[in-house]
Amino acid sequence: MRQRAVRDQQRLDSGAVSSPKDLENLQREITSLAKRQGDLEDVVLEIMERRESAQERVAELTERVGAVQAKVDDATARRDAATQELDAEAATVAKDREVVAGAVPADLLKLYDKLRAQQGGVGAARLYQRRCEGCRLELNITEVNDVKAASPETVLRCENCHRILVRTSESGL
Ligand SMILES: [Zn+2]
Repeated sequence: MRQRAVRDQQRLDSGAVSSPKDLENLQREITSLAKRQGDLEDVVLEIMERRESAQERVAELTERVGAVQAKVDDATARRDAATQELDAEAATVAKDREVVAGAVPADLLKLYDKLRAQQGGVGAARLYQRRCEGCRLELNITEVNDVKAASPETVLRCENCHRILVRTSESGL
């Protein structure tokens, strides 16, 4: 279009067009082309501006994705480290349990495991100030007397939750 305008202008300048009507038409075409060119330039400018703002948005979003990814990576690394730590702790606890279980008579261990399965993972409870720490119920006077009369080797059970009762110096007897 720009070339056409230049060509029209050259024709006009050369004096080759002599008819007033042709001259007028040519002049009108040049004006019209100039206006269209101006409009198109505005459109191009607007597109360039929009492209620029789109590129800015892409850069901004890319940065945010990067930041979120860094957070994900960090959380994943911490999770993996925690998992490793827990695995190591579980292995240590399992080894400790094995040692302790090895020192417990087989029938008592069997009873404990059975109770543990029945009582939500806790098969034995401390007797603390006449109270079973498994079910939190206080022993009545008869039970207290029974416990007092029992030899240290006797395996005591809570009348209420049936867990093995472990006597200590703080049992309140
Ligand atoms: Zn109990």
